[in-house]
Amino acid sequence: MKPETLFIHAGAEPDATTAAVAPPIHLATTFRHGPAGEREHGYEYIRESNPTQDRLEAALAAVEHGAAALAFGSGMAATSAVLQSLAAGSHVLLPRDVYHGTRLYAATFLAERGVTHEAVDLTDLDAVRACLARRTALLWLESPSNPLLEIGDIAALAELSHAHGALLAVDSTFASPALQNPLALGADVVMHSSTKYLGGHSDVMGGVLVFRERGAAYERAGTLRTLHGAVMSPFNAWLTLRGLRTLSCRIESHCRNAQAVAEFLAAQPAIARVRYPGLPSHPQHALARRQMRGFGGMLSVELAGGREAALRLASRVRLFTNATSLGGVESLIEHRASVEGDHPISPPSLLRLSVGLEHPDDLVADLRQALS
Ligand SMILES: *Cc1c(COP(=O)(O)O)cnc(C)c1O
Repeated sequence: MKPETLFIHAGAEPDATTAAVAPPIHLATTFRHGPAGEREHGYEYIRESNPTQDRLEAALAAVEHGAAALAFGSGMAATSAVLQSLAAGSHVLLPRDVYHGTRLYAATFLAERGVTHEAVDLTDLDAVRACLARRTALLWLESPSNPLLEIGDIAALAELSHAHGALLAVDSTFASPALQNPLALGADVVMHSSTKYLGGHSDVMGGVLVFRERGAAYERAGTLRTLHGAVMSPFNAWLTLRGLRTLSCRIESHCRNAQAVAEFLAAQPAIARVRYPGLPSHPQHALARRQMRGFGGMLSVELAGGREAALRLASRVRLFTNATSLGGVESLIEHRASVEGDHPISPPSLLRLSVGLEHPDDLVADLRQALS
């Protein structure tokens, strides 16, 4: 099946007891069992699993071409389950540009657990080769990366990782399952913050891991989820499933609008640099074209006038809302350095844009008036 069809039909069987076409939400925390704990339908207690979350996981495994999926309460819960699964003594490679929560988690908690990590430019395969060590257990790729929109070569990095006995995990949040399928390119685990494009309406938090095999990595992350109680609530699973149904048509518009916005901004003298994989000027444009079905709704720009000019643009937009997060129907803009805490790593001149589903002419007009 084509992705468009899978997004509609994966995990969408009518309810077995009522034939309802839309899925039920099961809020039960506990499920009747026999006197010796015999399960009637496979469920026992919500922290371990629940039927609505199961339905979402079946759908996500199908759309990402994986063997099994785990839904979490947030993207960070999913990410930290992977990092906490690593044995003491192992080594992790992280991208130089990576979601700041992932960076913060690694910097704060890996060392005390006896896990070493290193940030490397994952767009440079020679640099990765030089950093892979005997103890490297995991290569964590984020592609496209947040906020610099760097693209890593998933197939090449999978080959390199596997040659060293390491796993490749890919944070594919910016692409969503509509634009790339890392497992099909050889990755072992794919992570999504479903708070973003999968949910799609800025109203539901969640995170997802999909595994190429139902093996040790899946079992360990699942056990951590149960013991931490990092499950997705049934209502959030239901909303995420609802978001998944319209993902491919939403993404088509996000891509078209972001391309229009990127091309407009690239022609403005006030803009020093536009980072969007859909522009031929992007250093990994050819790779993005090969590895993705479209270039997504995220871009970032650097203002020629530096921090002051960036803040001025952000203060003058009317349609774009100054807010964090991304992937919703409404366009957002954010000065990343201002919200990254005590040690910002984004360039001070950088604004990140999440291009929504408004008409592209209106978005361009808003940016034009804000720049003038
Ligand atoms: C938002 C985000 C996360 C974290 O997800 P939460 O759902 O906020 O916990 C991780 N990676 C990327 C690329 C993100 O944009």
